[in-house]
Amino acid sequence: MADAVRQFEEAFASWSGLAHTFAFWKGRAALYAVLRGLGVGSGDEVLLPGYTCVMNVNPIKYVGARPVYADIDPATFNIDPRLLEAKLTPRTRAIIAQHTYGYPCDMDALLALAGRRGLAVIEDCCLALGSTYKGRLCGTFGAAGYWSFQWNKPFTTGLGGMAATAEESLAGKIRALVAGELRPPSTKAAMMLTLERAIYRLLIFPRTTAAATALFRWMTRKRIVVGSSDSGEFEPTMGEGFFAGMSPGQARAGLRQIRKVAANLAHRRAMRKVYEDLLREAKWEVPPLPDFMDPVLVRYPVRVADKARAVAEAPRHGVELGTWFEIPLHPKETPMERYDYEAGMCPVAERACREVVNLPMHPRADEATARRSVEFLKTIGPAPPRASEKGP
Ligand SMILES: *Cc1c(COP(=O)(O)O)cnc(C)c1O
Repeated sequence: MADAVRQFEEAFASWSGLAHTFAFWKGRAALYAVLRGLGVGSGDEVLLPGYTCVMNVNPIKYVGARPVYADIDPATFNIDPRLLEAKLTPRTRAIIAQHTYGYPCDMDALLALAGRRGLAVIEDCCLALGSTYKGRLCGTFGAAGYWSFQWNKPFTTGLGGMAATAEESLAGKIRALVAGELRPPSTKAAMMLTLERAIYRLLIFPRTTAAATALFRWMTRKRIVVGSSDSGEFEPTMGEGFFAGMSPGQARAGLRQIRKVAANLAHRRAMRKVYEDLLREAKWEVPPLPDFMDPVLVRYPVRVADKARAVAEAPRHGVELGTWFEIPLHPKETPMERYDYEAGMCPVAERACREVVNLPMHPRADEATARRSVEFLKTIGPAPPRASEKGP
């Protein structure tokens, strides 16, 4: 039973080159395990970008620490290292390097700062499976990395997550935590997720898409879908069953996915090039990236003139438009004041929230999808230039 989980952990270890891997029911539980393993706790501060998901902030709150938000680089949507020094206090313990959309963080700068100030770097690779920086895989630079395998992520086990580290001592602490506190997922939730994965596979084939969609809707109405988040997760208190392990069904899905990972990553690299070429042809700004970054994107982010209109009109044009991140602590329902975010804290990120939509790169999206998507965006128009945002 648990063999499949162990096998998936081993497969992920060999893919990432990180010796110690720990699989979880969700990615957020992986971050929680890493924070606990590092001994981050009451009164400590953790730096992260003000352009993230609330589910990423919860684990920080759960361990009793305080999230401290730093603004982002407008080109990569990643935490701007130049702003961090000013945010440090004697209580700062860790930086979460979230590789947003798949763009690698400025790891040289983050590691230099962390080294000088004795901070741990934790890499959030939930959107960046396979991205590399100076030839090295994202997730292998800091004390630990974590990945999510939720539906919208680069590969999916329905829900799911992984933490990985090369550090023996951190691995020992996480292992002890897992042995002492990790619960198995509820049998009902694991079974429902298996059913959802089966339906999800049917979505892929045009002949079964409509039926599968209808079935999903019916299940949602009957409240028998295992959601990515439940309402209790919009408040910073850890609920029953949060710290759950991966089910064997998730692990088997993960094993199938990881066998195909090279093709998945190659497809995403090719799709990025397709989007960039189409946007350049349309005379849209495509921010240049340094050659030493090889991002594998989860979705392709684009800044548009009118996000609300784009979101409203996309379905009619058959365009699968994504909206993350809608607010600095996505999604819109997040009560940000309970998570220590005050409006205006991260103006560059707030502007990105107003402007950025994202386009599909998943295995079912092809060049025709990209063409249709970009043609549609042309009817909306690009966001105004952001020359005033070049930073300090
Ligand atoms: C999805 C996501 C997470 C959390 O992953 P779950 O598996 O949903 O818990 C964390 N960070 C980022 C950047 C994400 O996109």
